[in-house]
Amino acid sequence: CGIFAYLNYNVARERRYIMEVLFNGLRRLEYRGYDSSGIAIDNDLSFAAGEGERPYASALPLVFRREGKIESLVRSVYSEVDAVGLDLEKSFMVHAGIAHTRWATHGVPSPRNSHPQSSGSWDEFLVVHNGIITNYEVLKETLIRHGFTFESDTDTEVIPKLAKFVFDQAREGDQAVTFSQVVIEVIRQLEGAYALIFKSSHYPNELIACRRGSTLILGVKGLTNEKNYAASFGDVKTLTADGQPKELFFSSDLCAIVEHTKNYLAIEDNEVVHLKDGSVSVLKFDYSKEKPASVQRALSV
Ligand code: GLU
Repeated sequence: CGIFAYLNYNVARERRYIMEVLFNGLRRLEYRGYDSSGIAIDNDLSFAAGEGERPYASALPLVFRREGKIESLVRSVYSEVDAVGLDLEKSFMVHAGIAHTRWATHGVPSPRNSHPQSSGSWDEFLVVHNGIITNYEVLKETLIRHGFTFESDTDTEVIPKLAKFVFDQAREGDQAVTFSQVVIEVIRQLEGAYALIFKSSHYPNELIACRRGSTLILGVKGLTNEKNYAASFGDVKTLTADGQPKELFFSSDLCAIVEHTKNYLAIEDNEVVHLKDGSVSVLKFDYSKEKPASVQRALSV
């Protein structure tokens, strides 16, 4: 299958543009799998923490999932946004969107088995996945014992639900937990092969991608001096705190990134890449150690 994500930072982009970047990413990846597809973008609504019935979360995502070819997703998304009067011209200075084209391994092609898979009501955690989680049955049983209800037949659904479980446990213990801490706790539990992208309303405008066995590429576009940035990309400080306007992409394949930028990083096994506030942090996850370490990595140009 193919996974794709697009995050614009400090660059105004209209919703229609954001959606088209996601759809084009999927079109390029369709050769990898095409029985169903989906995207998640942000809604116009946002909620203050703790407001109403929706605990903690601060931005409501919109999730579209369809069986069939990418073009049927595209058509139905546009007819739906028209039907609900969603503003395609609304502009975002920062926005994180994720997308997936599926080649089913667990569960028939259907909207509920399509990705993004969700943590449950309110879609607090959303995940797109390429690969197979081999221990999903035992994780599913454990989560059901903790009160989770499953809606799909996929192996993937345990991942967003585990993320919510980890997040809720931290909240109950009154602990502040970062998005990368949540994701690392989740992947600690996973066996099998995966490339994953996480989006969460608890961490608006952030994305996390990681991989083990499946390929994944990060693209970085729009830096004022792409060459210098690339040259100094090995410096973790530059990586983590430059704050320049930019557009960032995750993709299963370079073919969906080259139309945007030539600057890319091939993410390695057991790396967790966190996009936040225009910065890129690369953590190397070591199963034998308690804490992941920051690593120095260089962009290819
Ligand atoms: N195993 C997952 C599923 O069946 C992901 C399949 C894929 O890589 O498309 O939903």
